[in-house]
Amino acid sequence: MSVTSPSSDTPPSDLLTRTQKPWLLIGGCLVVTTVLWMIGRFSIGFGGTLWPWLAPSQVVMLWSFTCAALAIVVVSRAQALEPLIGGLDNGVRLHKRLGLAAMLLMGLHVVLLCLHAIQVGDSAAIMLVPFWPGARTIDIAVFYLLAGLGVLAYVKRMRHELWLNLHRMIGVLFLLGTAHASIEPGTIKFFEPLRTWIVILLLSGTLAWTYRVLLFRSFGPRFLYTVQRVVQRGSGVVDLELRPRDRRMMYQPGTFAFLRTPTLADHSAELHPFSISGSPVKRDLRFSIRQVGDFTKAVNGLTPGDEVEVFGSFGGFTQSHFAPYRRMVWIGAGIGITPFLGMLEFEQSNDDFRRIWFYYITRTPEDAVYDEEIRERFLEADSYIDYVQWTTADRGRLSAKQIMEDVELDDFAVMLCGSTPFVDDLVKQFLDLGVPPERIIYEHLQFR
Ligand SMILES: Cc1cc2nc3c(=O)[nH]c(=O)nc-3n(C[C@H](O)[C@H](O)[C@H](O)COP(=O)(O)OP(=O)(O)OC[C@H]3O[C@@H](n4cnc5c(N)ncnc54)[C@H](O)[C@@H]3O)c2cc1C
Repeated sequence: MSVTSPSSDTPPSDLLTRTQKPWLLIGGCLVVTTVLWMIGRFSIGFGGTLWPWLAPSQVVMLWSFTCAALAIVVVSRAQALEPLIGGLDNGVRLHKRLGLAAMLLMGLHVVLLCLHAIQVGDSAAIMLVPFWPGARTIDIAVFYLLAGLGVLAYVKRMRHELWLNLHRMIGVLFLLGTAHASIEPGTIKFFEPLRTWIVILLLSGTLAWTYRVLLFRSFGPRFLYTVQRVVQRGSGVVDLELRPRDRRMMYQPGTFAFLRTPTLADHSAELHPFSISGSPVKRDLRFSIRQVGDFTKAVNGLTPGDEVEVFGSFGGFTQSHFAPYRRMVWIGAGIGITPFLGMLEFEQSNDDFRRIWFYYITRTPEDAVYDEEIRERFLEADSYIDYVQWTTADRGRLSAKQIMEDVELDDFAVMLCGSTPFVDDLVKQFLDLGVPPERIIYEHLQFR
């Protein structure tokens, strides 16, 4: 099936926002870093033993700093940055790539320094072995610490809070390393424009880290709610309904918020992200929670009147990113149905007509705990909705090809939400069938 442009009078210029703007920012920063280093080297001179290893080692380390600073900025949780990074969910995806790039570039920097040491007649041990005669022991120790913490970032089984605390150390070490490099003799120190640029990156990273780790709970977008009801939906899913104590949080359907529950003693320090499963036109806020671990199971212990702090809203998983597209496919798998529940409820008063194909995928019919709610609502929606409840136990996996056959027309946009393997697999299928990436928007319900 060939794929055509959206059928609308509105130019789809906003579609660049979520997918391309962050990469323009990242690419732009890397170009500035590189150009300033080159100008700096031309003004200081390329003499001595700069080639073939030392000069590249300087550039890759500067790229590593740049990626590390941006990796911290994109997950700062600053709402002002949401449009630039395409939402915090997209920011987390960027963070993973930038963080990995920063680590790999740092490793390459060390390899190049070893080659340089050999070139000038030293041993590579001077770069690798702490306390080796002439070795910069602190730099070497920080490198190993960063490498170790970098590896731990991929350990899935570690408790989330421990993982988070260790992960935050990476940011601190990178920022300290950058500050240290700025005062060491070298291109950064001797070429003022490059030094200024590195200081700007350093300050941005430091501010982002400080806001996220130290200030967010006090100065972030915090709204006080009280528990109205905890409703058991079956199959290990509960609805948490909250009523505002003073200010209501405004949000777009499809976004998510962080919850803090001061009355659950064992979890009072934790912030957990959940998609909002109600409509913004309603006074009460609803979250639909699958009980997978300590915190989500403890939600049963909340009673009416308990205080809940809601921080938000965040994320770019919203229909507004697809304003020019009048035909949409919504695919929610398991608890990935939550953002669509809010979007469907909003459709009751949206006053915007679209054609929507809506798939709710679960393993068994019993797992489809929101099927009844969706059936009650989809016919009342302002948009025209085709709804399919798909159970994989008896129908197998739903494929992108089957969906495209249902839709027939090929000018649609797709929103997907569910577990990472499910979402990634289906996104790949849509891409393979020729759906352009800017027409696919997805959420994993997972940050690690
Ligand atoms: C953007 C987003 C939206 C989400 N929306 C929903 C939703 O609508 N409904 C729903 O049931 N679940 C949702 N989740 C998942 C939910 O946040 C986790 O299931 C919950 O935090 C698990 O906590 P736990 O202590 O019960 O489980 P654990 O056993 O501790 O953890 C289970 C998984 O959740 C992750 N996790 C644990 N604590 C946190 C935390 N503080 N912050 C981020 N991730 C954490 C862990 O890394 C692990 O992968 C969403 C996640 C994200 C990132």
